[in-house]
Amino acid sequence: MSIIYLDSNATTKPADEVVDAMTGALREHWPNPSSTHRAGQAVRQQVDLARETIAEFLGCKDRQIVFTSGGTEADNLAILGSLAAQNERNVLVTSRTEHDAVRDTAEVAAEAGVEIIWLPLDGEGVVDCDALKDLLSRRADEIALVSIMWANNETGVIQPIETIGALCREHGVRFHTDAVQWVGKMPTNVSELPIDLLSFSAHKFHGPKGIGGLYMRRGVRVIKRSIGGSQERDRRGGTENTPGIVGMSVAARLAREWLSSDERKRLEALRDRFEQRIIAEIDEVRINSAGGQRMWNTANIAFRHLEADAIVLVLSENGICASAGAACASGSLEPSPVLLAMGVPEDYAHGSIRFSLSRYTTDEEIDKALQIIPGVIERLRGSLSAV
Ligand code: PLP
Repeated sequence: MSIIYLDSNATTKPADEVVDAMTGALREHWPNPSSTHRAGQAVRQQVDLARETIAEFLGCKDRQIVFTSGGTEADNLAILGSLAAQNERNVLVTSRTEHDAVRDTAEVAAEAGVEIIWLPLDGEGVVDCDALKDLLSRRADEIALVSIMWANNETGVIQPIETIGALCREHGVRFHTDAVQWVGKMPTNVSELPIDLLSFSAHKFHGPKGIGGLYMRRGVRVIKRSIGGSQERDRRGGTENTPGIVGMSVAARLAREWLSSDERKRLEALRDRFEQRIIAEIDEVRINSAGGQRMWNTANIAFRHLEADAIVLVLSENGICASAGAACASGSLEPSPVLLAMGVPEDYAHGSIRFSLSRYTTDEEIDKALQIIPGVIERLRGSLSAV
């Protein structure tokens, strides 16, 4: 059975060009880029070129990019590295809808004595900028970092990054954004925005897993977390993942080309049609974060009175890949803490499913999914009422 892959916020299929470039890098460019011999320096050149491509893609200088093992490590470095670099400031400001890579890092920092302030959210999961403004006007000198994601991995809701960043800048507070779900899907130009640190990850935009990076604005210092060699200008120790870096640069080049087309609009219309058909055909559903500005690729749909894990299982048996909340949290029977934090009622939060498209998603796949989903929900609800 061919699968209908609607789980692109968990990961995306690597582009063929990415796989080819990585295979080439593994075969030809395997020496260590830190080696001073000619073979090593040839690999160094590949890494430098890839860094330039990625910097151009993000709108910054190549020296402002630190390669990491992905979004998680970039988030950890931004948060813990910023706290360590500013000992005189002991407050971290973030939100309950962040990915675990930020939320759990904040919890770890709290155990070490850092005060965490969780910003209030509206019903769509958007951060309350007035509350941030008020907080900054009172306690800016104590705040080491404000960390708010650009796009949410579960609902796709987009945060008002420009406003948040501008407020932070006005008050001399450092601002980090986890842009893992944004970069590669939407145009990004960090030099035009008040962002100090930005995390990204290749596997969310048809690149390989295990590689990503942190953009660091000039003059922003972090204390490194991966302690060892002096790679990455002494901001991240460890031999560079050269095939990953090369693969990510190819993925960035392809994403850049794709972003210059109108395809995003086609996919957004497809996502909207998908949601409208579900609402029209199935009772007691709600689209989470529908009232907010959202990414073109994400539909988080709540099927009242059902358990998300059961829905995912039956969808999977019918060839549809979707997920219950974040991929890393699925398997737990608790409803998503992200949805609860934004006030989704429990009877809906329990049955919330994330369908996420990619630039490879076709109209035919969505049509096929729409033929399957109503029957799956009806059967599951039927089996409940039969109990
Ligand atoms: N941040 C967000 C918003 C994500 O969606 C993810 C992955 O799901 C991460 C961070 C972690 O990225 P990685 O899988 O590259 O460690």
